[in-house]
Amino acid sequence: MIAFLDRTARSFLLVEFVKAMALTFRYMFKPKTTLNYPYEKGRLSARFRGEHALRRYPNGEERCIACKLCEAICPALAITIEAEPREDGSRRTTRYDIDMVKCIYCGLCQEACPVDAIVEGPNFEFATESREELLYDKAKLLDNGDRWEREIAANLAQDAPYR
Ligand code: SF4
Ligand code: SF4
Repeated sequence: MIAFLDRTARSFLLVEFVKAMALTFRYMFKPKTTLNYPYEKGRLSARFRGEHALRRYPNGEERCIACKLCEAICPALAITIEAEPREDGSRRTTRYDIDMVKCIYCGLCQEACPVDAIVEGPNFEFATESREELLYDKAKLLDNGDRWEREIAANLAQDAPYR
């Protein structure tokens, strides 16, 4: 009987409705926890492993010395490198491909590189409509490096004390 009266009183006094509205108003004035992507983007860690890039030195010379350590360590066999010595005796790649479909974004290529040439940059917006577009060649990777160098260098500098 008491339970019935309690339920009836709650129904007439709109208790649940008032509680729901109170909750709504409480959250209405709190800072939003959602982002209006793609117009707003969240903060990324300096260690974020996104799209690959090949970096250059400030004078424009490629960093990569074609040691092939990244190719050897890649667990997905996603990297293919061919190399030849230049006329000046330095060794550089003639082919540097990454099959981004095979890549598991483990970051081992970046860890293995002795000259910080191959890195995983902060770009995560590189979805494509075909598989072929995800077969990256050297030109594409160097282009990524040129485009993201400022952010990549800042992330590497921020992470350097922990390496
Ligand atoms: S991130 Fe890992 S899987 Fe991808 S290319 Fe580098 S080593 Fe290979
Ligand atoms: S990217 Fe780095 S690890 Fe890979 S071949 Fe070039 S220098 Fe060696």
